[in-house]
Parts: sequence; structure tokens; C-alpha cells
Amino acid sequence: MAFSVRATSSSAHHIARNVVSKTRSSCSSSLASKRSQGMQGKKVSPSSSSIPFRFSSSGRKSAMTVQAAADGPVCVVTGASRGIGAAIATQLGAQGCRVVVNYAASSGPAEEVCKTIKASGGDAIAVQANVAKQEEVDALFKAAVDAFGEVNVLVNNAGITRDTLMMRMKLAQWQEVIDLNLTGVFLCTQAACKIMGKKKPVKGRIINITSVVGVTGNAGQANYSAAKAGVIGLTKTVAREYAGRNIQCNAIAPGFIASDMTAELGPEIEAKILTTIPAGKYGQPEDIAGMVRFLALDPAAAYITGQTIHVDGGMVM
Ligand code: NDP
Repeated sequence: MAFSVRATSSSAHHIARNVVSKTRSSCSSSLASKRSQGMQGKKVSPSSSSIPFRFSSSGRKSAMTVQAAADGPVCVVTGASRGIGAAIATQLGAQGCRVVVNYAASSGPAEEVCKTIKASGGDAIAVQANVAKQEEVDALFKAAVDAFGEVNVLVNNAGITRDTLMMRMKLAQWQEVIDLNLTGVFLCTQAACKIMGKKKPVKGRIINITSVVGVTGNAGQANYSAAKAGVIGLTKTVAREYAGRNIQCNAIAPGFIASDMTAELGPEIEAKILTTIPAGKYGQPEDIAGMVRFLALDPAAAYITGQTIHVDGGMVM
């Protein structure tokens, strides 16, 4: 199964995008306002070079041909305001995708990601939602459908760490990480599969960001490594349940990637970590985003499902 993405550099496309973006009220909004917001900024385009699609403000198909800001696959990326998620959202946007940029607290950075996506030929909305909570996940996917009519790709990227040795770990530290890093993936996957299954012919791609420590374990990360190992098991189960319905589910296991999360480790731990990476350096968020782009959009990835792909400079092999 392949999603068609289109070139993003044509001037006609950029003109069309500007028409729409001027009519959109805001790229970012609170969860509450997203609940009541429908698709905004549709304009009937007189341009013969524009790429038409059919869409109505209620999310149902209408006979009116309207000009899309972008018409690529609709991609929900959780935790896309910073770090790896921001790089993923940006790369998908640059392919002409319509991206739902989810965040928990960083509305400003999420809005910046949306601006970057729009400037590169994609379309985007920012939606605040704590993906550890079912009602907020429901509202996130409702916002996605209200804005873009469907969901084709889900990237479960949002994640946190609450590191400490197992003997010192409080139940709350355990639970917080499991709730977001594992239960959040389950909730978003369930919500996405429901929407993907409604549009015929069914097609969808789900990419879960796990971690090398979900495979190897790591002292000080009982909660995190258990959640990430759980994500690998969940990935395989979703892949088995949905392979026959044309929804592929894969995981990416990053090694150490430069981000706010790894910046917390400090120079001493970083120096130790570098000795364990054959490549001798941290990866960049773009390294993960490139693999997501392949799994999410490339026709060559259509027969890959249930896999965990390591992008880690050779740490785990
Ligand atoms: P960052 O800490 O840089 O960014 C985390 C992102 O998750 C932010 O966008 C944040 O939003 C969002 N987020 C946090 N809590 C929630 C929540 N409850 N609901 C929705 N979104 C939330 O992390 P990284 O970019 O480093 O990591 C991204 C993913 O990659 C994680 O799953 C992580 O476990 C995994 N990973 C990272 C590695 C690394 O070396 N960096 C290695 C292996 C895996 P906000 O800005 O609003 O707080």
C-alpha cells in the first residue's frame, strides 16, 4: 500500500497554500477550542493548475471542489512540538502531508512546527492533548478528522523519562511512564485504527517510537524500558491483527539521539554512553524522521509489518 505524495515545489501549489492559510483562523488552539472547531479556510479555487479534493466543513464529502493547502496523507504525530517528534512532523510536512502536531504543554514550539510545515508545502494544525488520557486522545483524533477528514498515518512518538534505580522508584514514577509511553500508544493506536478502518479501501500505517533499551534494558530505567518493551510487543500484535486489513504497524528503536531528553543526562554520562556507540556519536532527530518517512510513505515499505527497526549507530546488533 502506498500513499501518494506530491511534489511540494511548484509555484501553483504555494499560491494555493497561501490562499488557504490566510483563511485559517489559527494553526494552534487549545483542546477545548479544537473540540468545537471544524475545517476552516476552504476556498473554491479558480486555478486550473490546483489539485482539487472534496471536503466539507463537517468532515463529510461534498460536491464542492475546494482547494487544499496540501493533499498528502493525514499524519498524526504525538509529541511533535520538540525533538524527534518535531523532526518527524517537519519531514512529513515537507512531503506534502497534512500533519496533526500534538503537544502537551509547548504551544509556541508546536505552532512553529506548523509554520515550518506550511512553508515547505504541507499543511498542519497543532492540537494540545495528553495522550495518556482517553478523553484527550478522543478529542485529538476528532480534531484531526474535523480538520482533514481522515487519518492515514499515526506516529506514536510522545514519551517521557522518570529515571531512577528500581529500588528507589516510586509507584508514581513507574505509573507516569507506563501511562504515557505504553498506554498512550495503545489509546492512540485504537483511535487511529477505528478511523482508518472506516475509509474504504482501508489503508494505514502506524509507526511506534520505542527505544533500544526496550530490547536491552537499562539500569535506572525499569519504568521506561518496560514501557518500550511493551511497545514492541504491542507493535507485533497490532501488525498481526491488521495486516490483512492493509494497516501496517512497525516500531523504530532509536539509540541515543540529541534532544531535550538526552540533554538531561549531562556530560559525564554522555561520555560513557559514547563509548557504547560504534558510530561514536549521538544520532540526530532527522535520522529517526527519515526512517519514519520511509515506513509511513514509501511504497517500498508496504510489505513491512511487525518489525522493530534499530536506528542507533550500531549500538544493538
Ligand atoms: P523530548 O523530551 O525532546 O520531546 C517529548 C515530546 O513529547 C514533546 O513534544 C512533548 O510535548 C511530548 N509530550 C510529553 N508528554 C506528553 C503527553 N502527556 N502527551 C502528549 N505529548 C507529550 O523527547 P525526544 O524527542 O527525545 O523523544 C521522542 C520519543 O523518542 C520518545 O518516545 C522517546 O522515548 C523516544 N526515544 C528518544 C531517544 C533519545 O535519545 N532522545 C532514544 C530512544 C527513544 P511538550 O513539548 O508539550 O512537553
